[in-house]
Amino acid sequence: MKKFNLLFVTLCICGIQVFSQDAKLTEDWTKKPVIVTPGCHQSPPSDAIILFQKAKDIANWEGRGGPAKWKASFKKMQVNGTGDIVTKEKFGDCQLHVEFRTPSKVKGDGQGRGNSGVYIQSQYEVQVLDSYINETYYNGQAGAVYKQSAPLVNASRKPGKWQAYDIVFHAPRFAADGSLTKPASVTVLHNGVLIQDHYELTGPTTYAGAPKYTAHGDMPLLLQDHGNPVCYRNVWIRKL
Ligand code: MG
Repeated sequence: MKKFNLLFVTLCICGIQVFSQDAKLTEDWTKKPVIVTPGCHQSPPSDAIILFQKAKDIANWEGRGGPAKWKASFKKMQVNGTGDIVTKEKFGDCQLHVEFRTPSKVKGDGQGRGNSGVYIQSQYEVQVLDSYINETYYNGQAGAVYKQSAPLVNASRKPGKWQAYDIVFHAPRFAADGSLTKPASVTVLHNGVLIQDHYELTGPTTYAGAPKYTAHGDMPLLLQDHGNPVCYRNVWIRKL
């Protein structure tokens, strides 16, 4: 029995090591995005669908298998360890505005500092991270299309400051047989600064291994619970 347990633990540890080596293969450390100091924020236009502006708007979101349980108060909602949340409504091509704030009290480093994520169609992540003087692989820092495209520059504000992403997203297109006819594309402004310029995704963003498209239609917007108490406010979307 003891031998069996030892073998099981050894296999688990080896498995974790192999998995983490696989993840390192897709880290990009070649060209560090230069630092740019950003300007100001934006309120929603008249035709926007408001996804979150007041605490009660948490009702526009759900968790896995039930209501969203993030802490919603006044004009913000906060990651609290209850898991990712998704919009009840599904979206395709869109213009999206999201404001986020990483904790002012800095804890951890690299991917462990102010990590969350804006997953368009629940599977294409624009990374949320405290990237103010915080080294990590460049295609994993704030504004990266995770593990695919590093931001053109680093427009991050200091920890504890509100920041904004303005995103234009075109959904992938698929033929009737499920094959890809047109990849998804994304343009991102971080605090008003262009950081992704019509980047064509090679598939859903993944932690390890090569991305691979699977045919899908409209999907909810997802905000990631990565275990750090990141806050969100002023989330709105326009269908294109
Ligand atoms: Mg993330």
